Amino acid sequence: MAAARLVFLGPPGSGKGTQATQISEFCGVPHISTGAILRSSVAQGTELGKKAQFYMDAGELVPDELILGLIRERLGADDTQSGWILDGFPRNVEQANFLDVLLQEMDQPCDCVVNLDVPDEVVVSRMLLRGEQEGRADDNQATIRNRLEVYRQQTEPLIAFYRNRQQLVSVDGNQPVDLVTEELKKIVHG
Ligand code: ADP
Repeated sequence: MAAARLVFLGPPGSGKGTQATQISEFCGVPHISTGAILRSSVAQGTELGKKAQFYMDAGELVPDELILGLIRERLGADDTQSGWILDGFPRNVEQANFLDVLLQEMDQPCDCVVNLDVPDEVVVSRMLLRGEQEGRADDNQATIRNRLEVYRQQTEPLIAFYRNRQQLVSVDGNQPVDLVTEELKKIVHG
């Protein structure tokens, strides 16, 4: 049975969303993207969306109080029995600690944390291209710079956090999409 409880880590623009989509289909488990949930809340104009938009446009993290309940609810849904892929969560140490407690409560330990390694100059050019092609509001020069800074300060420490617990697997994300997917499939096949 393939490992199916996975966390995807990596800088913005590293391809987490693309790869998480592929691997969630491969494993037959839901792809849970906090960024996608937030973007759809913004588009629908929900209370959450209204509160989150300001932070997202600035490239800042949305406050934990808006995210933690959302994750608890989503992981508690009926479709998560055989697993899940978390993309965009956790993004700071508080969120990682929260996830630990939640998974313990649910008796669903994480199989591994996949880190997609991609150099800064590559992620910046990918995000600028995505901004032109898909029109994502936060894919503009100024916001991209801040998202990378926020990533360095708040999210990157999670690499050591999970490596120390021997849960981390790093993959070179600076390769053609299909090659990254192949590597990830081998990892989840374990
Ligand atoms: P990227 O990783 O390419 O920046 P995401 O789609 O994962 O894109 O996230 C977009 C934005 O949504 C982030 O910049 C942040 O404002 C918000 N966001 C997503 N996930 C979280 C989270 N776990 N905690 C706080 N904010 C989040």
